[in-house]
Amino acid sequence: MIWQPIAIDPATASPLPTPQPTAIALLSGGLDSATAAALAVEAGYAVIGLSFDYGQRHRRELLAAKAVAQALQLAEHHTIAVNLASWGGSSLTDQAIAVPTDGVQSGVIPSTYVPGRNTVFIALGLSLAEARGASKLVLGVNAVDYSGYPDCRPDYLSAFQTLADLASKSGREGHGAQLWAPLVLWSKTEIVREALRLGVPVDSTWSCYSGGDKACGICDSCRIRDAALIEAGHPELASGALSSH
Ligand SMILES: [Zn+2]
Repeated sequence: MIWQPIAIDPATASPLPTPQPTAIALLSGGLDSATAAALAVEAGYAVIGLSFDYGQRHRRELLAAKAVAQALQLAEHHTIAVNLASWGGSSLTDQAIAVPTDGVQSGVIPSTYVPGRNTVFIALGLSLAEARGASKLVLGVNAVDYSGYPDCRPDYLSAFQTLADLASKSGREGHGAQLWAPLVLWSKTEIVREALRLGVPVDSTWSCYSGGDKACGICDSCRIRDAALIEAGHPELASGALSSH
């Protein structure tokens, strides 16, 4: 009997199980990164969370990142130390510089900008992504209802993708990790609504620039977040301080 190859009709053949794709999600402990990570989970990725102990003013947001990773049932969560407070240069990494509380000023990059922060973090995220064969690096950056940070803008992300493709073995081979910033052009209110739809534990996230047991309600991050929570119909999740200021 002559061996015959078996013809498989692709329309009726049962598909081979495909391995679950992996994504790395940078988790700050804030609402935006939690929402972006939740979107990656919803899209079917095994998500590895990555957080940075960078010498920020308080540890509160690292506890929030851990809580978010647990709530979203991420595959893994790593926190690594990169002490940007060694040289400061920001009100978030230098206790001698006060966190501004006067509201966001259009066209002014505030002192809460941390020199090179996202460039450092994304580089480390890409390293982890390549080591684990992850196809996406998920970022919660947002360029709309925010303080105009240069490293949260679409042109920055596009340029970083070009660098990533050139800088890595996987990129040169054509399968490097893609930066994925699904919220970059969303309003904060849209992000809040999506977070609630996805079941993100909003009350476990921490966006305030100041430490303490409760969010301050007057730093830029609190103001933007609280306004969005109220606009989205959830004043009970706001810091509660807005109404008294
Ligand atoms: Zn605050």
